[in-house]
Amino acid sequence: MFGSGSGARVASVSVDLDSVECYYRIHALDGLPPPDARFAILRRCLPRFRELFARHDLRATFFVVGRDLDEDADGRALLAELAREGHALANHSYSHPYDLVRLGPVAIASEIDRAHGAIAACAGVPPLGFRAPGYEVSADVIDILRARGYRYDSSAFPSAPYYGAKAAIMGLMQMIGRKSGSFLGSPRVVMAPRRPYRPSAGAPYRRGKLDIVELPVAVTRWLRMPVIGTSLITAPEWMRKRMVAAALNEPFFNLELHGIDLCDADADRIPAELIARQPDLRRPLAAKMAALDATLSEVAAAGAGFQRLAEVASQAAAAA
Ligand SMILES: [Zn+2]
Repeated sequence: MFGSGSGARVASVSVDLDSVECYYRIHALDGLPPPDARFAILRRCLPRFRELFARHDLRATFFVVGRDLDEDADGRALLAELAREGHALANHSYSHPYDLVRLGPVAIASEIDRAHGAIAACAGVPPLGFRAPGYEVSADVIDILRARGYRYDSSAFPSAPYYGAKAAIMGLMQMIGRKSGSFLGSPRVVMAPRRPYRPSAGAPYRRGKLDIVELPVAVTRWLRMPVIGTSLITAPEWMRKRMVAAALNEPFFNLELHGIDLCDADADRIPAELIARQPDLRRPLAAKMAALDATLSEVAAAGAGFQRLAEVASQAAAAA
């Protein structure tokens, strides 16, 4: 079903719930976010996603950072409600270490297992999928997920333009003496398949025969431009439409969003130093919501049905 042909049949929407602190680390800002902003993603942005998805009658997949469940009872309660409403909660590690793949098997397993336990307790069912912090996965990560019965990983982001931009920004930051908390992984990812595949043993970005499915994040066909929330909410309207149309030419549109995509920087009390470094925070919430509303309407108009990533993984596994 995902091997050939054109015309989208399936779309999945997932939201990575990276906390405001994660963006502090990326931009090498000192200290922790102030208390007002610290839990803004789960308390302020998440309810907006709930309304957006209800308007489009879709069940999404939320990638949850385990530690947030332990530190924020309000956020945990909201995520439990979303799980009861039919949304899936999946594993986005315990503390969102950008260099997860460099930590070694024991620490990687601990990051995955602690988040697994916290998310299973919150949702009432164990998570079936994983997305690595910063999109960087490794053979160790895949082996640990397989040993725990995970059905899918959705970390591969096979976009040369994204990889190049990240490398450039990290290089510039280093030049001015600020070390980003972000991590530049293997460049092999830019050649990974764009469609769901079974990874190869020892080479997660190559097609193989392992008993887990990799669900790559959407990129366009030739230039491999990233079709993710960040690009859709910051692009001019004509470009957003083109990117979505390109993604809808594929059998499967894996649309990845971030909690911060629906942030209202002023109302959510985001500190000015972060707004200055994060262009999407300078876009009005209404414009960002309109871009995502239009995108979801275009998916439905193209005849694609919304499914959670675990369902897509089951079908891809059966087809592979
Ligand atoms: Zn993340």
